Amino acid sequence: MPAAVTAEVKTYQLYINGEWVESRTKKHLPVYDPSTEEVIAQVPDANSGDVDRAVEAARAAFDHGPWKGATPQERGRVLFRLAEKIRQNAAMLAELECRNSGKPIVEAEFDINDVATCFEYYGGLATKILGYVNPVPDNAVSLTLKEPVGVAGQIIPWNYPLLMAAWKLAPALAAGCACVLKPAEQTPLTALEMANWFPDVGLPAGVVNIITGYGESCGAPLVSHPKVDKIAFTGSAAVGKGIVKAAADTVKRVTLELGGKSPNIFLADADFEAAIDGALFGVFINQGEVCSAGSRILVERPIYHKFVEAMTAKARTIKLGPPLERETKMGPLVSQEQYERVRSYQELGKTEAKVATGGGRADRFGKGYYVEPTIFYDVANSARIAREEIFGPVASVIPFEDEQAALSIANDSPYGLAAAVWTRDIFKAFRVVKGLRAGIVWVNHMQPTYVEAPWGGYKQSGFGRELGPWGIDEYLETKQVHINLNEQPIGWY
Ligand code: NAP
Ligand code: MG
Repeated sequence: MPAAVTAEVKTYQLYINGEWVESRTKKHLPVYDPSTEEVIAQVPDANSGDVDRAVEAARAAFDHGPWKGATPQERGRVLFRLAEKIRQNAAMLAELECRNSGKPIVEAEFDINDVATCFEYYGGLATKILGYVNPVPDNAVSLTLKEPVGVAGQIIPWNYPLLMAAWKLAPALAAGCACVLKPAEQTPLTALEMANWFPDVGLPAGVVNIITGYGESCGAPLVSHPKVDKIAFTGSAAVGKGIVKAAADTVKRVTLELGGKSPNIFLADADFEAAIDGALFGVFINQGEVCSAGSRILVERPIYHKFVEAMTAKARTIKLGPPLERETKMGPLVSQEQYERVRSYQELGKTEAKVATGGGRADRFGKGYYVEPTIFYDVANSARIAREEIFGPVASVIPFEDEQAALSIANDSPYGLAAAVWTRDIFKAFRVVKGLRAGIVWVNHMQPTYVEAPWGGYKQSGFGRELGPWGIDEYLETKQVHINLNEQPIGWY
């Protein structure tokens, strides 16, 4: 689609070794505002040569730069100062995130606050990386030391652009790693803006490098690069599977945060009003572009019809609109590609189930990748709309007969990222929690995430955990040190 180019289009460069540099390709890719379909910036279309430069810079910074000797306190202070910069510039970052991703401004503001909180949390954790004294026999001392894993390649998606960057960079830097970050092609702007502050906050050159480009030409060379020690990836399961294979040749450490098709389970005794709210919030927040979206809504038979009716009525009141308007509760999808993908699932759903509301483009804005919040009901768990991640505002409501049936439907999915259960009965709640195969389970809520608590999936939703102390662990190697206390020679030969 030919895009109108507005006057204030800014052209960015790559951030490598503490400097802004041109890509070797001299090419750029356009970055859009999905609410106007206009180009708002150009970023470099980096290739493997650029990846090489970025990895060499990170390698040098990790192997013999000043970062290597930085104490945990110093690393922590860098993160605290970066958090402060983010808080000082929160309004600018939120607006840019909102324009670039299409998410409502109020949600973008929450995200930027979470970004700062994430850097603060890991700033504190930098000084709390503990080793162990291992309980071996008296003739030796055995220690476990924790050391940074080295150079981390970090590849992130477009749904929470700067927050995903923070989830990757903050624990890596706290651990003492050096990083090469590749944002998603659609949403690289806030990460690039953040790089402006790296020198001011005392991050030595080369410790964080940011390269922009496409997955195939810029992400893949990072994954296969022999001088990268670890890949941390958040994105789709399809790409994630390719990354595991590509990383095998160099036996890289890999952590994967992939997609989901998360069940949001409503037992008949749940607080009804809270349940309707929770079902809508679980699946429609951030336009449904959420890895943990509660996109399978499982409802116990006695409340099923009333539930579908009430959910439908309330979904119709959701305020779609330009993302920068404060009343907007749902903006456009991130890109034309995502719009077409979600539209095709809306059409597919009409052949697989019944439409309660939505099912098409939200036309009233003329331009922009808006789709209607869509609810399908009487969905079979075998339907494609119940099995495949749509990553848009499309809900599949599925009835169930009893707790056991709810669990078997919930667990009958290749994914296992998240789940929720709504009930007033603590015994039922805990039986369901224990029966679910998912990395995060909410009771009487869905979606809140805390930097202090682990995040990650079971099954094909990935492996490894982000956030909390688990997040920093993924950037640490474990070294055992054995000190002999036996003063006699070994005496074996
Ligand atoms: P995606 O298409 O898998 O892309 C993710 C990132 O990988 C992008 O930066 C992409 O680059 C890059 N990439 C693509 N092909 C690559 C390759 N061959 N080698 C290396 N990198 C490659 O996912 P997305 O569409 O951006 O994001 C949506 C997905 O992310 C959903 O499945 C969602 O569930 C998942 N997600 C998961 C979590 C979680 O915590 N579990 C959080 C957020 C999102 P380009 O796209 O720029 O080409
Ligand atoms: Mg992509």
